[in-house]
Amino acid sequence: MVVGGGYTGMMAAARLAQRGRSVALLEKHELGWGASSRNGGMVHPGFKVGPAALLKRYGDRGRQLYQASLDAFALLEETITTDRIECDYARSGHLHLAYKPGDMDHLEAEARVLGEEWGINARVLDRDALAAEIGSPVYHGGLLYERSGGLHPAKYFAGLARLAFDRGAHLHDRTPAVALARRRQGGLTVETPRGAIAARDVLLATNGYSDGLVPWIRRRIIPIGSYIIATEPLSDDRALSAIRNRRMLFDSKNFLYYWRLSSDNRMLFGGRASFAPTTIAKARDWLYAAMIRVHPQLAGIMVEHAWGGNVAFTFDRLPHIGRTEGITYALGYCGTGVAMSTYFGQLAADWIAGGELPDCWQRTFPGLPLYRETPWFLPAVGWYYAALDRL
Ligand SMILES: Cc1cc2nc3c(=O)[nH]c(=O)nc-3n(C[C@H](O)[C@H](O)[C@H](O)COP(=O)(O)OP(=O)(O)OC[C@H]3O[C@@H](n4cnc5c(N)ncnc54)[C@H](O)[C@@H]3O)c2cc1C
Repeated sequence: MVVGGGYTGMMAAARLAQRGRSVALLEKHELGWGASSRNGGMVHPGFKVGPAALLKRYGDRGRQLYQASLDAFALLEETITTDRIECDYARSGHLHLAYKPGDMDHLEAEARVLGEEWGINARVLDRDALAAEIGSPVYHGGLLYERSGGLHPAKYFAGLARLAFDRGAHLHDRTPAVALARRRQGGLTVETPRGAIAARDVLLATNGYSDGLVPWIRRRIIPIGSYIIATEPLSDDRALSAIRNRRMLFDSKNFLYYWRLSSDNRMLFGGRASFAPTTIAKARDWLYAAMIRVHPQLAGIMVEHAWGGNVAFTFDRLPHIGRTEGITYALGYCGTGVAMSTYFGQLAADWIAGGELPDCWQRTFPGLPLYRETPWFLPAVGWYYAALDRL
């Protein structure tokens, strides 16, 4: 039984069905309702914690974690190709942009580690070289990474859903799991408003929408809203004046901007101003102003769509896969989960089907004393991060 119908849950359902397991997936809303149909579609290896910090913090385990993110990227590309998922995927490469001059040192260290440890040729571009990539007066340079790309998130999700369905998984939309209980004879009972289901295994794949179903998980996940605007389609000239080689872009701020061109030449520009609660209308206006600051040549362009969704932060800013009270979980992607959730879905399914969980994922899942559902610490953390960004 899989709870949560996003990339993680759907990939797990597809894999379990492929392995001959009888599998049902429950989704509280429509299939793909969560972040999996709302994200920026940027696909790249890595985590919120960069490769140099991973090595410093975790040594050889850190090396394995980054390698897993490379494997995740490869799995996503292989899934799209082998299963013929039409999702406008393009291997565009991405740029990590330095917002402050001092961020260049950090990007240079990342490039060095990527080359030495994984043989990855990530190039540091100074301000002049960057001008050949983006039309923006804001950034001091960037790290160009070619092994990454972009896709249409909802089309990718639809492809995974078709795969799971074709392989025989039972997909139930508008069916929340409202309670879980261990059965004396083994396995679990999953309660839904439409009745109870007995399951040998349960995978919790609820990420930034984790509710009180498993309180132990809820206390370890911090849901945070992220927002995106989509402009009207731009002429080729205007689109390429902003992003010459159609790269995926994100910057080095704590409250980062992430942006790209869609396959129909809209500018998709995402981010958030603070951790304070906000509305789509406020986020739209703020993102529009930010976009014009970054790319003044887009002044006057219409915004046609704006939306938001939840990402799931964890206290160590890394995703987690594990088991608690007999329930398997795979979540906590901290806003970089398109490739990783695909990978975790497959890994969780293989683990449930009797495989081993690699060492690097057998990690403590940290919580914070007194944190239950209300992230009381966020205003202070937000203030601190915003101050760092301004310094
Ligand atoms: C605005 C935005 C932009 C993003 N941009 C990027 C990006 O460019 N690149 C990138 O790598 N990542 C990005 N992400 C993150 C990425 O989208 C997520 O990491 C990924 O989609 C997580 O997939 P998931 O299946 O684990 O969770 P989700 O897709 O969020 O699905 C979880 C599902 O669980 C369901 N659920 C919750 N509780 C229950 C219950 N009790 N019973 C049944 N169902 C339940 C929810 O309804 C939800 O549909 C972005 C996220 C957002 C919000």
